[in-house]
Parts: sequence; C-alpha cells; structure tokens
Amino acid sequence: MSASAVAKPQTATTHVDVLIVGAGISGIGSAYHLQEQCPGKTYAILEMKDTFGGTWETHKYPGVRSDSDLYTFGYRFKPWVGAPIASAEEILKYMGEVIEENGIGPHIHYGHRITKAAWDSGSNLWTVEATRNADGAAVTFTANFLWMCQGYYDHEKPYMPDWPGMDRYKGKLIHAQLWDPEIDYAGKKILVIGSGATAATVIPAFAEKAAHVTMLQRSPTYFFCSENKNELADKLRAGGIDEPTIHRVVRAQIMYDQDMMTKRCIAEPDAVFEELKMLVRAFSGKEDFPFEPHFTPKYRPWQQRLAFCPEGDIFRAIAAGKVSAVTDEIDTFTETGVRTKGGAEIEADIIVAATGFNLLMMGGIPFEVDGKPVDWHETVNYRGMMFTGVPNMVWVMGYFRASWTLRVDMLGDFVCNLLNHMDQKGAKRVEVALREEDAGMPLGDWIEGDNFNPGYLMRGLKKMPKRGDKPEWRHNQDYWAERDQIPATDLEGSEFLYDGVRAGSRVKEDA
Ligand SMILES: Cc1cc2nc3c(=O)[nH]c(=O)nc-3n(C[C@H](O)[C@H](O)[C@H](O)COP(=O)(O)OP(=O)(O)OC[C@H]3O[C@@H](n4cnc5c(N)ncnc54)[C@H](O)[C@@H]3O)c2cc1C
Repeated sequence: MSASAVAKPQTATTHVDVLIVGAGISGIGSAYHLQEQCPGKTYAILEMKDTFGGTWETHKYPGVRSDSDLYTFGYRFKPWVGAPIASAEEILKYMGEVIEENGIGPHIHYGHRITKAAWDSGSNLWTVEATRNADGAAVTFTANFLWMCQGYYDHEKPYMPDWPGMDRYKGKLIHAQLWDPEIDYAGKKILVIGSGATAATVIPAFAEKAAHVTMLQRSPTYFFCSENKNELADKLRAGGIDEPTIHRVVRAQIMYDQDMMTKRCIAEPDAVFEELKMLVRAFSGKEDFPFEPHFTPKYRPWQQRLAFCPEGDIFRAIAAGKVSAVTDEIDTFTETGVRTKGGAEIEADIIVAATGFNLLMMGGIPFEVDGKPVDWHETVNYRGMMFTGVPNMVWVMGYFRASWTLRVDMLGDFVCNLLNHMDQKGAKRVEVALREEDAGMPLGDWIEGDNFNPGYLMRGLKKMPKRGDKPEWRHNQDYWAERDQIPATDLEGSEFLYDGVRAGSRVKEDA
C-alpha cells in the first residue's frame, strides 16, 4: 500500500470565536487580553511546537538571552522582577507563569501545525486546517476571527548562505538557530560568522570555554554596553515600593530613555557613536580599544538593531584575547576553516553561522479569501496589523527598535475594542479598504530601507504587504507615535467596512 493510501485520522471540526495562531510571547499575551477584555469569547491557540515560548524555545545556543530589557519586553500586566536582560530560560519561566496564573493552558493545542486558512464570506468564517503532529490527524477549526501571532521568521530553516567550498570543510558547521546544546565546544577553536545580536550573545558565551573564538563579519555593528541592572528599579525596591508600581515606573523611564536615544541617533549619530565607544573603553578596561576597522559601522546607529552587551561582555573577552574579529568576506571554505577574500586563513573546529533568519510571512500558511489565494504583496497593510481584502484578521508584528511586546499589549487592546465594537453593531465581518482620499496614494515596500534595513527584511520585501504614505497605511516602527494613535483609532473611521458597508455610510461595497 502506498503511503498516500494510508488514511490519516480526521477529527470533528471545532468552532471558536477567536483563533490565535502561535504560543510565543505574542500569542500568550493576546490570549490574556482576550480573556480580560472580551470575557464572553471562546478561543483556542494553535501551536505547532510541543510547548510554548516560540523564539525563546527555538534558540538553544549558549548564552541565549534578550537584548531588550524585560521591563518593556515583559507584558504591561505582569511585573518583571529580575535583572533587565534575561536568559531564554527566565523568559520561558515568566511566560509559563502568565499561562498558569491566567488559566490559558487548557486553550492551547500544542503539536498542531496549521496548513491552510480559508475565509468564506458566505458564512463569515475562517476554516483553519492543521495537522496534529502526534498522529498526523487532520484537524479543522472554524473561527469568526483570526489573530495571527506566528512571528516573522522560519523557525525550522534559518538563513544559511551558500558559500563556496562548504562541502570541503571537515569540522562542524551549524547555524546558531539549529544549535544543539549537546555539542561540546570546550577547548575548541570556534568561528562565528556574523556580527548581529546573535553573534554578540553567543561569542562571549563560547569564549568562556572555547580555546578561541573568531568573529568573521562582512561589516561592523554598533554595540551598546551597559550594566545588567536598572538603578531606578533597585532604588524603588529598596524603598519598599510594590512590584506593579516599580514595573510601571521603570517601563516609563526606559521608554523615555529609548525615545531620546532614537531621536539622538537620527539627529546626532556621531555624538552617539562617541558615547558608545566610551562605554566600550570603560567596560573592556582598554583606553586604546581599537575601533577601526572592526567596530566602525557604515550605517547610522539604530538603522539596524543595536546589539546590546550586558557588562560589555564581548569587549571584555576581546580585551582578554579570547575573541578576535575579522572584517572581510568569505572567499571559500577550506578543509580546516575559511579563507577570506583578503587572504586570511581562519582555522576552526566548529563554525557557527549567525547569519540570521528567513522571513516567513504568516508562518508560511497559505491563505485564501473566498477561494482565491492571498498574495500578501498585493495587499495594503493597515497600521502594520490588518490587510486590505482580508476580513476578520489581525497580524501581530512587534517593534524592531523598541520591545516587541509593547505592541502585543497595544494590539491586544485594539483587537478587543474592535471585537466589542463589532458585537455592539451586530457586525459579523470587518475589513479595511483604501478610502476616497487614498486614491492615487503611492504604494511602496512595507518598510523604507533607510528606516530599518536588516538583511532578512530586505530579502523578504516581495513577500510582504505594501505600505502607503499615510500613518494609517504604515507600520512606522514608532512606538512613541503609535501609543497615542492606535488607542485613539476611530473604529467608525471610513477605512473600516463592517459587513461590506463602509463605516459612516450606508452603501454596501465590494471591498
Ligand atoms: C534570538 C532572538 C532574540 C530576540 N530578542 C529580542 C529582544 O530582546 N527584544 C525584542 O523585542 N525582540 C527580540 N527578538 C524578536 C522576537 O522574535 C520577538 O520579540 C518575539 O519573541 C516574537 O514573538 P512572537 O510570539 O510574535 O513570535 P515567535 O516567538 O516567532 O512565536 C511564534 C509561534 O508561532 C508558531 N507557529 C508559526 N507558524 C505556525 C503554524 N503554521 N502553525 C502553528 N504554529 C505556528 C511557532 O511555532 C512559534 O511558537 C528576538 C529574536 C530572536 C530570534
């Protein structure tokens, strides 16, 4: 009998009001807000992994940690009580507590990989098909509303460039995203290819046990060194202030500082760079720390994520001679390592590619609306969360410069307001559509390259939706603007259509 002839078990269809995709930090936070703000709604979370955590479960390389502070990366509703920069383990513990304290667990269906999502305007329902990992059963859910919290990259296939001679290399070559904690690297020579946030984390961690670590980068990155503590939080705690208050106040302080920093990076990038250098000198203990050529980037600070170094760890490891940097391109892999275009031979027992992600729009799930496949690049994105032509669906895409989770909380409020508003109106369907005043609006790539330009986004722009030139039709990555704009959204604004009727009019439209 052929494999295809083996019948897979088929389960009965389950209906929920709201279906959340993904049990990462976005999905869990969204579930919390739904329970709090729309207590009458039934919901389920579908998660392809066997546990929660998303990013924090996928990455297992040494030292994996946040590069945002947890006062803002943590949810607004659950105080963070530890050091600002947290390990993956601490983040998972925090998420586990949120699940436990709020009874979210029974709603999560682990081991369910979604394979299709189809909207039907006749029934005003999403039909979501999934495969249950345990037995291969086909599982079907229907839902009135889809809350997409599947993250932005492929959890299974990281971005691994195709370098010449890779197959000749006799050592171990692995992408950081696929790192197996069983790999023994004590006393080994390690080459890390890349210099972004992952490299900044993994290099000092490797340096603790490895014989030597080389960082090979095509171009330099900005690093921000700081102690892993928050003085304000420590003072308030010493003064006996309660944790919810500390969380609120410290979040506000950090957000203010970040806002100032972002503005300064744009207004006075050279002065900011001088300050970043001062911190490197202080943490490395080397007044003459050499910034040329390996630590002088070509782009503006903040155009890509600034790599955070708690206690200046990578620079301390460089100053101690445990880590060295090479800025060059790979010419070829050799049997023993890598030869660069500049002729350097770098020998390594283990080569770790910290080369980033493959962007994956909507978790790679094929979408249909009324039988027609959705091409996301043909849609226009409403405030980085809804799409023209795709009803009853919101996508959670966080911030790149500020903590991702700030947007999870913000969109949580938005979605719940929207659902409650639909109930008040008796509407079964909501979508966004360009308005009369948007006629002729130039449509461009989802994000401007000179605003934020990491490789995975630039490689994936053709899979992303389009952006207009008005705040409604952009994800401007500006938390400080959005924190006023999004809560003030007029849900009766003319960009919204309810049951096909444009808000503020009585005319039914084919959106
Ligand atoms: C190593 C690393 C460190 C980072 N550090 C920070 C940081 O310090 N601060 C910050 O703001 N951001 C950081 N980020 C960005 C980070 O990804 C987000 O902040 C955040 O964790 C994303 O959460 P999420 O829940 O939206 O998505 P993910 O964490 O990607 O979770 C999505 C979940 O959806 C599931 N899923 C996807 N497709 C399907 C499907 N078809 N069917 C079923 N389930 C599916 C996945 O299995 C996963 O569990 C970091 C990213 C990485 C990789």
